[in-house]
Amino acid sequence: MSLDNTSQPSVKYCADKMNAKYIHGRPEPELVPSRYALKVGAIDVLVVSDGVLSLPGAMLGHNVDPAVRAAWLEDMFLPPDVLEWALNVVVVRSGGRTILIDAGMGAEFPDLPRAGRTVQRLEAAGIDLASVTDVVLTHMHMDHVGGLLVDGVRDRLRPDLRIHVAAAETKFWESPDFSHVSMPPGFPDALRRTAKRFLHEYQSQLRTFEEKHEVAPGVLVTRTGGHTPGHSVVRLASGSDRLTFAGDAVFQVGFEHPDWYNGFEHDPEEAARVRVRLLRELAANREPLVATHLSFPSVCHVAVDGDVFRWVPAVWDY
Ligand SMILES: [Zn+2]
Repeated sequence: MSLDNTSQPSVKYCADKMNAKYIHGRPEPELVPSRYALKVGAIDVLVVSDGVLSLPGAMLGHNVDPAVRAAWLEDMFLPPDVLEWALNVVVVRSGGRTILIDAGMGAEFPDLPRAGRTVQRLEAAGIDLASVTDVVLTHMHMDHVGGLLVDGVRDRLRPDLRIHVAAAETKFWESPDFSHVSMPPGFPDALRRTAKRFLHEYQSQLRTFEEKHEVAPGVLVTRTGGHTPGHSVVRLASGSDRLTFAGDAVFQVGFEHPDWYNGFEHDPEEAARVRVRLLRELAANREPLVATHLSFPSVCHVAVDGDVFRWVPAVWDY
């Protein structure tokens, strides 16, 4: 079974009507790559790009001297003010189940028009929404749940869809604490509104877990906390192969500066501890890593570099 099925994309629906172009009623194939398939033992994995988010550079380290941050950006050949953050979701097939891990931005924040393409790109990859048996949410920020709120999506999902999320996450969003974040204006309200709407629309399909839950054979979701209280990572294991999807526990800058606070972290001190623990573990066991906001397709390894870490992108092996 392969997830990289490019034959006959479904054309009946296209949630991204604003961005998709049509030829004879079919979505025009995009010239940019938006999916990357790999195997973890017997588990099929597909990394799908939801697009990119244009966000202020200051958000990647709001506890840092601006001059130090500016120097890092320059060293990385990145612009000083606005960064394009990748936004990746993952589809996993194991034990007859098709699991979508996070759902992208959807149409929740019109100021970020280059994101929100998950549904369109799943279709282009031959993945019908009705085939998804489970959704795993690393957390409930709008760039991770928004795709489920796009018009018409709920009706196309199976009525018995199970959405797995940490109990601490649903509880947090009943009365979320934004006192330690550093976000651009408009974001806290949009995040609150989106999480509330998501809880309302999908309440009956939520399957909460406390610390960990095996969604399918070799697909283990584990709560880390930090970024949000219910933030979770997904560990894949089959035979001797492993892969971790780290959600928002690791950002690009986090390898070299794991102690820089990301503006979206609700408990930045704990988020930094989670990041260091995870990066240390992945450096020691040499397992591959995929994360939401690492440059697509984001498959990489972690090396120790003195007191910090080094990002080692995987080779494109097609
Ligand atoms: Zn995120």
